[in-house]
Amino acid sequence: MTTYLNYIDGEWRPSRSGETFESRNPAHPSEVVGEFQASTGDDIDDAVQAARRAQREWRKVPAPKRGEIIERAALLLQERKSELAELITREMGKTLVDSGYDIQGAITSGRYMAGEGLRMFGETVPSGLPNRMAMTRREPVGVVGIITPWNLPVMMPAWKLFPALVCGNAVVVKPAEDTPLCAVRLFEILEEAGVPPGVANLVTGFGDAAGQPLVEHSDVEMISFTGSQKVGRTIAATAGQALKHVSLEMGGKNAVVVFDDADLDEAVDGVLWGGFSTAGQRCTASSRVVVDHKVADELVNSLQKRMGELVVGDALDENVNVGPIINSRQLDRVHSYTSIGIDEGAELLVGGEKLEEGLDGGYFYAPTLFDHANPQMRIAQEEIFGPTVVVLRVDGDEEAIEVANGTNYGLSAAVYSQNVGRALSAIAEFESGLAYLNAPTIGSEIHLPFGGVKSTGNGHRESGKSAIEQFTEIKTVFLDYSGTLQRAEID
Ligand code: NAD
Repeated sequence: MTTYLNYIDGEWRPSRSGETFESRNPAHPSEVVGEFQASTGDDIDDAVQAARRAQREWRKVPAPKRGEIIERAALLLQERKSELAELITREMGKTLVDSGYDIQGAITSGRYMAGEGLRMFGETVPSGLPNRMAMTRREPVGVVGIITPWNLPVMMPAWKLFPALVCGNAVVVKPAEDTPLCAVRLFEILEEAGVPPGVANLVTGFGDAAGQPLVEHSDVEMISFTGSQKVGRTIAATAGQALKHVSLEMGGKNAVVVFDDADLDEAVDGVLWGGFSTAGQRCTASSRVVVDHKVADELVNSLQKRMGELVVGDALDENVNVGPIINSRQLDRVHSYTSIGIDEGAELLVGGEKLEEGLDGGYFYAPTLFDHANPQMRIAQEEIFGPTVVVLRVDGDEEAIEVANGTNYGLSAAVYSQNVGRALSAIAEFESGLAYLNAPTIGSEIHLPFGGVKSTGNGHRESGKSAIEQFTEIKTVFLDYSGTLQRAEID
């Protein structure tokens, strides 16, 4: 078994405590993917100090040059795409198609952010005084702590660290404990691409032992976090107390709304992909279907039939549509929602069980469908993060939108309709950061803003140009060439 190290100040180092932990393949839990450093506050401190020193020089490197290094990293990711996709499937479990999307997201983010190095634009603004110039410039925030989940194990660290680096920040990344090898491989690429020592640091370990000290560290100016609402709230409170910048992207309970004029075949295709790809372990998963009662029977019957065709298993097999759940704790959690749904009185139509036979002890769960749920039930309100889809039947467009908006999450929403006017009204009414017409709730693109409203986020957007806004501070500059004292707002 290989033991992998932290990457601090340009060196691969063991943790100070010497403690390690294992990452296992969720499709074959007896297979250890690797052994990793169980880091603590001491390692975080080493990484933050290295980042602090390196950032003083990195911020002086012209942004287009920083972009060139990121472009090299994107090219290396491209070269190793299939090898990395296979690793993601082994360590995290999703299908090779999903894993390819994960890597492609990182590649596109690298290409886009490399270009942003050439466009680190400020504004030139007319001054209210004669012979005076006013402008803004973008400057880095400083040292950024990046904390990521396991479901997008390469793309998620990449789409935070590429914009952070191109803006001149140094970073310390604490990746999810379930997918550390994906993060190690990404850092090998950063090293090879020429990111200077100390500018990007990787510290593996658990949330309380390594994540929390990163959030609490007084030399970290910003935390960029993606993960659960529960952890996000704690991070927001700690970072708020220390007056740090904090950007949070959390869960979703995303609805696909199906109006009575929808193309139902298209809607069923969308729900299958949105609800069951990555075994439903996506923040944007289509976990609720809000359907007009006039077409509900037809939609549910067709969905039920098509779910029977889904193949569950080790996703290294290209015939498999639904891979394992990430770990046994999460498998139990997903299963507990099936009992909750039954107790609440929803009708279990498909699945609802752990799958064991011939599956080598892997953490597999049958694609599950509940019908006749009511909007207040826990299965219709709480993020399950598994292959469970809940159908809510409604009467008309207005009720559909009210039900779709009726959770405290606000990440993604979709509507299926053949009528542009009805669809656009729904899109305008959705309380979500992303909205889709005739497509499921997943499928965002890297060059566009990504994020959620309500309790999904705290007002930031990742990806695209918005990421540059997150990772920079604005300095407003006044240049006076009048040769005399001019007093703004007075003279
Ligand atoms: P999680 O919140 O349990 O963990 C996320 C990260 O936070 C991990 O690296 C973990 O080690 C770390 N962490 C845990 N406790 C911490 C603490 N006290 N201080 C600092 N760091 C800590 O989430 P998860 O189970 O890894 O991921 C699933 C969640 O992520 C779901 O809720 C999903 O919706 C969400 N997610 C959101 C998006 C989005 O963009 N909105 C994208 C992907 C996943």
